[in-house]
Amino acid sequence: MRAARLTAPGMLELVDIPVPTAGPGEVLLAVGAVGACHSDLHILDAPAGGFPIPTTLGHEIAGRVEKLGPGVTGWAPGEPAAVYGIIGCGHCRACLRGLENQCRTVPVGGVGLSRDGGLADYVVVPASRLLKIGDLEVTQAAPLTDAGLTPYHAIELTRPALRPGTCCVVIGIGGLGHMAVQILAATTAVTIIAVDTSDEALALATRTGAHHTVRADQNAVDEIRRLVGPRPGGADVVLDFVGVDPTLEISRSVISAGGHLMLVGLGGGTLTMQPGAGVVPVPLEVSVRIPFWGTRAELKEVIALAQRGLIQAEVQTFPLTDVVEAYDKLRRGEIHGRAVLVP
Ligand SMILES: [Zn+2]
Ligand SMILES: [Zn+2]
Repeated sequence: MRAARLTAPGMLELVDIPVPTAGPGEVLLAVGAVGACHSDLHILDAPAGGFPIPTTLGHEIAGRVEKLGPGVTGWAPGEPAAVYGIIGCGHCRACLRGLENQCRTVPVGGVGLSRDGGLADYVVVPASRLLKIGDLEVTQAAPLTDAGLTPYHAIELTRPALRPGTCCVVIGIGGLGHMAVQILAATTAVTIIAVDTSDEALALATRTGAHHTVRADQNAVDEIRRLVGPRPGGADVVLDFVGVDPTLEISRSVISAGGHLMLVGLGGGTLTMQPGAGVVPVPLEVSVRIPFWGTRAELKEVIALAQRGLIQAEVQTFPLTDVVEAYDKLRRGEIHGRAVLVP
């Protein structure tokens, strides 16, 4: 079968490998669609020793059950499914609470991360990672598992602050950001302010439910302040899906006292905090969180939102043979919404 593999640091190659076999408790899935995630670029860019090599990438997966490994019940061949990508240890305090995204034992373990992923014709996953998707299109279901789940989890963490009439700033209207806008529009009555450098991304934000759009340039903070009012007020929640120095600067400059800064994007920027400094760069009572992916229960809720037609991923599909080109486009910022590979 074909598989897009990390074969050396920085090297993504479409190669031919044997179809894997489902072991006890596992399922062989015929891959229907796989989302291309920015995290894959971080994996590609990681120095030697960072991730297992060779590994098939792809952690946003949906497809059909092909074969059941020994002992698997509750699934039948041909059944459509989405894959919850995280594989925690299953035994630590966090895993026992269903918070495998903050497992205390396995750092970022999962399908397409610590074991072979879905950028291939077939993938083997533990049956416990599969969720039913009914008649949802696989090209829709795949992005839900990360591009949908990650913002949903971040929004869930701040839901008590997202009261009717409050303001939420969403920075970075890419694969995750455009889903965040829709989840906010579908599940809250907050004012949604979308921020991005690209006109196309801002148009996508408007189409998907943002009330205001702001271009991420040197006037962005003033523009957002015009909408959210002066300090010590401001945005009740900021979701930063980029995480570079300029977006972190916008985030801390527009957050309200007591607000919630949710730093989702892994852009490598630095957030400066100086408690007690003469000019406090981060307002008092602000909480900062670095949410990661989400839980299985939350993924079920995200799938339910999509099945109701309340959220829909904007996807650009590519055949698996164009996998290298798709990731190059993602790197160059030429993907609007989510790139989805279709084996
Ligand atoms: Zn991802
Ligand atoms: Zn654990």
